[in-house]
Amino acid sequence: PQHLHNDPEPGRVRVAVRIRPKNSEELSDPDYADCIELQPELKRLKLRKNNWSSESYRFDEIFTETASQKRIYEVVAKPVVESVLNGYNGTVMAYGQTGTGKTYTLGRLGKDDVSDRGIMVRAMEDIITSASSASASVEVSYLQLYMESIQDLLAPEKTNIPVVEDAKTGEIYASGATVIKIQNLDHFLQQLQIGESNRHEANTKMNTESSRSHAVLMVYIRRLVDEKDTSLQDTVSRNEKHSQRVPTVRKSKLLIVDLAGSERIDKSGAEGHLVEEAKFINLSLTSLGKCINAVAENSSHIPIRDSKLTRLLSDSFGGSARTSLIIMIGPSSRHHAETTSTIMFGQRAM
Ligand code: ADP
Ligand code: MG
Repeated sequence: PQHLHNDPEPGRVRVAVRIRPKNSEELSDPDYADCIELQPELKRLKLRKNNWSSESYRFDEIFTETASQKRIYEVVAKPVVESVLNGYNGTVMAYGQTGTGKTYTLGRLGKDDVSDRGIMVRAMEDIITSASSASASVEVSYLQLYMESIQDLLAPEKTNIPVVEDAKTGEIYASGATVIKIQNLDHFLQQLQIGESNRHEANTKMNTESSRSHAVLMVYIRRLVDEKDTSLQDTVSRNEKHSQRVPTVRKSKLLIVDLAGSERIDKSGAEGHLVEEAKFINLSLTSLGKCINAVAENSSHIPIRDSKLTRLLSDSFGGSARTSLIIMIGPSSRHHAETTSTIMFGQRAM
């Protein structure tokens, strides 16, 4: 359709790679060695173990360690945000080993320095601006998913929140989760901050790390549209278009997902809870990988119901939804195995 003219491949998951700058440990490590050679102009990268592999991997975009938060937002997330503002659902997610910059890329508040702001804040800034001129409402929920159980990060006493599908509209939502109507960017920043501290507190209490849980920001946009509005053409059914001129509420949803660390949890010696945890984290990430793979292969069956995470994503992933995945890696050869597996995860989407 016409509205997707700037989107050559709707339904495909777009995959970008971002490499974190060396941290202080890596800078002072006398044995430091690079694990990766980036070829950003070719949109390719090479992996190294002992010798540089001659094989290179292609992605939609390669960001070097000097890429700004602004540029990442504009290339990776803004097209998704624009599509959501046009009435489609969309998802932006970051995948990678703990410590590679997922939360930095997505969740950074940028309180001291606005140039530091991450994708969540920049997306909301654009959405709020556009919504206020279109008299749309913007609402958010902020959830944490840990061991196949959803907790409300805006009201942490709410746990075990079910993922429900609206029988009429097919809309997926977290039933009973707090939904906050956002007034302006400061109001959103407050909510995000509350969510972050609840995430931290909940994980301290449970004696877990935030790297073991997925954090999901859900943004709901509701716009009252009149059928004379030409941008409406594609989302209103033929029937409605011809029968009446009543305003319709057009809904769309953006999900921003800070995925759990992709590192394999060492199961040797782990007992009880840890083994369970490893199994569950694997379930959501493995199941996400299968869905990404299925979309890439144009499969008619996307196994979206296999985990809580993918169920939550199910109406915002593939199909008419626009999906961006950022593959986060560190530069050091010390993490060769995890970096390789992260890159392979991203390749499965290409
Ligand atoms: P993750 O969420 O993947 O575990 P974090 O976002 O917490 O990783 O990042 C780990 C550390 O690296 C943090 O101290 C963060 O500030 C820093 N960091 C990550 N990416 C960058 C970057 N692009 N520039 C500067 N610092 C970064
Ligand atoms: Mg994190």
